[in-house]
Amino acid sequence: MANKRSDEGNMDCCSFCGLPRTEVEVMFSGSDGANICNKCIEHGYNLLLETEVISKKGKKAAPIRKEELLKPAEIKAFLDQYVIGQEDAKRYMSVAVYNHYKRLMHAQEKQEQIEIDKSNIVIVGPTGTGKTLMARTIARLLKVPFTIVDATVLTEAGYVGEDVEGILSRLLQVADYNVELAERGIIFIDEIDKIARKGDNPSITRDVSGEGVQQALLKILEGTIVNVPPEGGRKHPDQKFIKINTANILFICGGAFDGIEKKIAQRLNTRAIGYGKLERGSIKRDNLMQYILPQDLKSFGLIPELVGRLPVLTYLEPLGREALRSILTEPKNAIIKQYKALFAMDGVELSFDDEVLDYIVDKAIEFKLGARGLRSICEAIMMDVMFDLPSETSCREFRITVDYAREKLEKAGLSEWKQVG
Ligand code: ADP
Repeated sequence: MANKRSDEGNMDCCSFCGLPRTEVEVMFSGSDGANICNKCIEHGYNLLLETEVISKKGKKAAPIRKEELLKPAEIKAFLDQYVIGQEDAKRYMSVAVYNHYKRLMHAQEKQEQIEIDKSNIVIVGPTGTGKTLMARTIARLLKVPFTIVDATVLTEAGYVGEDVEGILSRLLQVADYNVELAERGIIFIDEIDKIARKGDNPSITRDVSGEGVQQALLKILEGTIVNVPPEGGRKHPDQKFIKINTANILFICGGAFDGIEKKIAQRLNTRAIGYGKLERGSIKRDNLMQYILPQDLKSFGLIPELVGRLPVLTYLEPLGREALRSILTEPKNAIIKQYKALFAMDGVELSFDDEVLDYIVDKAIEFKLGARGLRSICEAIMMDVMFDLPSETSCREFRITVDYAREKLEKAGLSEWKQVG
């Protein structure tokens, strides 16, 4: 084991690489005079990781069985427990996920006569209306690996940021390095609108953040074999790659597409409407999003090829007063239910007057915070009582009244929030 340099007199060298103690950060010494430096330990660790990765690579994924397949209505019923409203989007998602499973079964049965194309999805809707919630909820239900990535961190290969291949590293990690399992996974790409090209014209110069990334994404969405760095991060020359075929991976893209209503309105105003039944007079101006078509995504700055690879297009509606009110109390893990559970753990029964719930919703609307704001408003109201109550052992009940809520919210600095909104 001992190498030449350490044999030649200098006993204070690494027995593996021969470097002297003075040239390494840490040296570990064994009882028989053998040494090992931090670099050799790191190297050995990486070798172990790689062999483990390679051994998992060959692992087979359990086949998908027909009996296990959830019907679209069942998937939607599950979504209904967590996501309020957004009926159209829930139906689209349920069908897309169902079809994804069917495609996988079809591929597994090797029925070659008809090839079923995959239906990647794009969900358009204002922030805080439930895009991520919907994706996360679907993920709870699925038996395929699922990951959420943010399109804003992606860049073309060679630029600072994350390579598009990095998305697949994440999926591979979620699948515990089981390639076969990763190859049937689902990837949610959030903020896809942020990689739209800025003008309507294709750029002549390179557009680092926009079009180049779209091109790179396109290849993965289409279905190709990608060399994926298993540990993620930048590709580097001595890293072992794992090949992943993206043909069966389902992509769900989400984005707020701020200002897309203008593009929709322009199209509706300037052209006879493509959909037969839709007459000019019947257009609901307050929710133009429902008329969204793939061409609007193009006008917004997604390249046509990418739009073509996202054939299922659905939208989320802005959340109105009623929806916000329901979000507070109805979903399986509704905010109010969460507070009640927290207090119950201290043996305290917590209750909210009905007017408090209306008040919270009013404030969320006033501050233009949408559903995202409900939680922050509740936190501001509940902070003091959550601090004090655990020490008051005699208290068994606590009732939140509207006066109490108003007082706490004012104390928390209402006016500052207004500016944020
Ligand atoms: P985004 O559309 O920006 O991805 P999110 O899904 O992250 O929005 O929503 C933020 C939070 O608001 C969620 O965690 C959830 O608590 C709440 N929320 C938003 N929309 C809904 C909805 N339709 N039903 C229930 N809760 C919702």
